[in-house]
Amino acid sequence: MVSANIQAAIISPYYKQWKMPLSPIEALPVEILQDIFVRSLNLDLPLSSPHIAAKLSSTHCYLAACFEYLYTHIGDRIRQSRLQSRIFANRWMTWQFFQTFVIKACEAAGCMCGQHQCEKAIWPPDFANPKSMPFTIGHLPRLSYIKCRIPPKLLHGPWTEEKVQFLRFLVRTTSMTVDWADRDVRKIALQGKKDAILEHNYEAVELFNHNRRLGRAPTIELVRFAVLDGGCDRSIVYDIMASARNWGYRNWDDEALDKWVEQAIAQGSPKGQWLELKLKELRRPGGYLGPHTGEYSIDGDELVVNFHRTCRVSEVRTRLGRN
Ligand SMILES: [Zn+2]
Repeated sequence: MVSANIQAAIISPYYKQWKMPLSPIEALPVEILQDIFVRSLNLDLPLSSPHIAAKLSSTHCYLAACFEYLYTHIGDRIRQSRLQSRIFANRWMTWQFFQTFVIKACEAAGCMCGQHQCEKAIWPPDFANPKSMPFTIGHLPRLSYIKCRIPPKLLHGPWTEEKVQFLRFLVRTTSMTVDWADRDVRKIALQGKKDAILEHNYEAVELFNHNRRLGRAPTIELVRFAVLDGGCDRSIVYDIMASARNWGYRNWDDEALDKWVEQAIAQGSPKGQWLELKLKELRRPGGYLGPHTGEYSIDGDELVVNFHRTCRVSEVRTRLGRN
C-alpha cells in the first residue's frame, strides 16, 4: 500500500523532473555550473531546474550574486531593485549570511562605507546594536544603495532576536521599504506589529513605533490593543504613547481604555492607576507624558523607557525601578 504522501510525491512535477534524464547543462560538474552562474549572475538559472539549484547552492554563488546586485551599480536602477528584492527573499539570505556578506564586502577597506582610509571609519560593525555606530546614511553609499523590498519573512512573528536584529540593521543602514501596495505584505506587516505586542517583544515594538518605513505612526488604537489584548505591558504601552505623541497624535479620549482602567483599579492592579495617570497626562493641554510619574516596580511589571532625541533615533536607554 502506497502512502498518501508518497503518492503525492510521485505525481508532483518535481518527482517527474528528478526521474527524467538530466539535460546536458544539468549534467555539468558542480564547478563548471557554478562558474557559469558566477560569470552570468543570472538569478533565473537556479530556478530552471532543481538539479541546477542544488549544484548552485553554495556560499560562493550566493556571495557572487550579493556583490553584483547589492554592492555594485549595474546601471539599471529598476532592474537592480527587483533583483535585490529577489535576493533578500531567498531562504539562504539569513541574518548570519548577510553579516558574512557585509564583512566580506567592507573588511579590506576597514569601514562600513567601503572606502579605504576613511577618516571616520566604522569597524567592526555592531550588528546587534547599529544605533551605537555613529554614522549618517550618507556615510554608507553602498548599503544605502540597497533600495528594494523588505522580505515578508522579516515582518512577522515569532520575533526572534535574530529577526529583530536583521530588520533593525536593514532599516538603519539600507533604503529598503515595505511593499505597501501588496495587500498580502501589508497584512503581514500589520499583523507583525500586533505579534510583537502579544509576544511582549519590546525591541520589535520599538522598531515599528519609530520607523515610518515599517508603517504608520501609532495612535490610540494601538494603545488600546496593547492594553486590552497585550495585557498592558507598561514598557510597550509607554513607548507606543510616547511615539504617537512625538508624531503629533493628540486625541487621547477612549471609552474602552477608561473602562479597562476602572476595572483594573477595582481589582487592585497597579497597572490601572499607572495607566489612568498616563492618560490624564496626555489629555491635559500640551499633552505631557512623564516617564517617572506614577512609577512602581514589582517582579514581572517593570517599566523600560527609551528616550528618543528624535522620533527615529534612540540615544539613551534607562531602566527605571530595576530591583
Ligand atoms: Zn567610512
